[in-house]
Amino acid sequence: MFKGILIEKEEAAYRSSLTDIDEMGLPQGDVTVRVSHSTLNYKDALAITGKGPVVRKFPMVPGVDLAGVVEHSTHPGYKAGDAVILNGWGVGESHWGGLAQKARLNGDWLVPLPKQFTPMQAMAIGTAGYTAMLCVLALERHGVKPSDGEILVTGAAGGVGSVAIALLTRLGFKVVAVSGRPTEANYLKGLGAMEVLDRAMFAAPGKPLGKERWAGAVDVVGSHTLGNVCATTQYGGVVTACGLAGGIDFPATVAPFILRGVTLAGIDSVMCPRPERLKAWQRLGTDLDIRKLNDISSEIGLSEAMMTAEKLLNGEVRGRVVVDVNR
Ligand code: NDP
Repeated sequence: MFKGILIEKEEAAYRSSLTDIDEMGLPQGDVTVRVSHSTLNYKDALAITGKGPVVRKFPMVPGVDLAGVVEHSTHPGYKAGDAVILNGWGVGESHWGGLAQKARLNGDWLVPLPKQFTPMQAMAIGTAGYTAMLCVLALERHGVKPSDGEILVTGAAGGVGSVAIALLTRLGFKVVAVSGRPTEANYLKGLGAMEVLDRAMFAAPGKPLGKERWAGAVDVVGSHTLGNVCATTQYGGVVTACGLAGGIDFPATVAPFILRGVTLAGIDSVMCPRPERLKAWQRLGTDLDIRKLNDISSEIGLSEAMMTAEKLLNGEVRGRVVVDVNR
C-alpha cells in the first residue's frame, strides 16, 4: 500500500481524498518510481477540485509532475536507483500521476533529473517552470532579442509567470509584469520585473490595435488579455500563448497579425516532443538563478494538497507549490 490522492466520480459526485492505495491498482508501465516530490499546477488544482474537465478516467491519481527514484525498470534507459522527473504526457489526467508515493509509468516519458537540481528544486520548477522555458525558447526561435524591447508577462505572480520573469531577466530582457495582486509588486520586482501593471488594464474588451509596446510576451491568461496583448505588440513581435487562467476564449481581431506581422506562438508542455523537453530542462539548468527558486516556491505535505488546490484557483497562491509526498 502507498499513500496518495485519489479522485473518484460516481454519477454527479466528484470526490478527492488522501487515502491508502493498493500497489496492485498501479497502471501498466515499464518503470516504477518511488516518488519523493510532486507539485501543484493550475491543472492539478482543476483536477482535484473538479472545477475543470482535466481527469479523463476514474479513479485517478492527480499530479502532472513528479520527481523520484526508479524502484524497478524493464526499460533499457533506466535502472533501479536512477533519479528521474516527469512532466505531462497525460499523467494525472488519463494515467495515474505524481501526487502519491508511487507511480508506474512509460519510461519514454521520463527525463533524468538534471544534475543542477535536487528533486525538490526540479519540482519547484515543475510543469509551470518548464512551460515558461518553452515560451522563452519560442521567443528565441522567432528571433526576439533583448535589444528589441520589453517583454510582457501576464499572470505574473503565478507559477509560469514567476519563472518566466526570472528566466527572461537573467537572459537580459527588460520584463514588465501584469498582476492582479498589487501586494506582490515587491516580489515581482525582486524576480526582475522593471514595472508591474494592473491586470485590469488588459481584462476588458479592447481596440483591434493599440500603441505598440511589447517586443514579446508570455501570456498565461487568454481571453481579452491575450487579445489586448497582441493588439499592443510591436511590429514583428512575438506573443507566446500558454494558458487560460482568465478564460479559454480568444476575442480578438486579425489586425495585429496582418497589419503588424505579429506572431502568435502556441505553447504545449504536455505532448511536447522529447528533444524539445530535454533542451528546455538543459536551459533551465543554465539559465535559471537557483537562488530565486527559494523566493518562487513553498513546500507543503500531501495532506495539505487538497486545501491548497482551492487556494490556487482563488489566486491566493504565489509562485510554485512543491508537494513532499512523504509528509
Ligand atoms: P497559477 O495559478 O500559478 O498562476 C496563474 C496566474 O494567473 C495567477 O497567479 C494570477 O496572477 C493570474 N490569474 C488568475 N486568474 C486570473 C483571471 N481571472 N484573470 C487574469 N489573470 C488571472 O497557474 P500556472 O502558472 O501554473 O498556470 C497558468 C496558466 O497556464 C493556466 O491556465 C495553466 O493551465 C496554463 N498552463 C499551460 C501549460 C501548457 O502546456 N500550455 C503548462 C502549464 C500551465 P496574478 O495574481 O499575478 O494576476
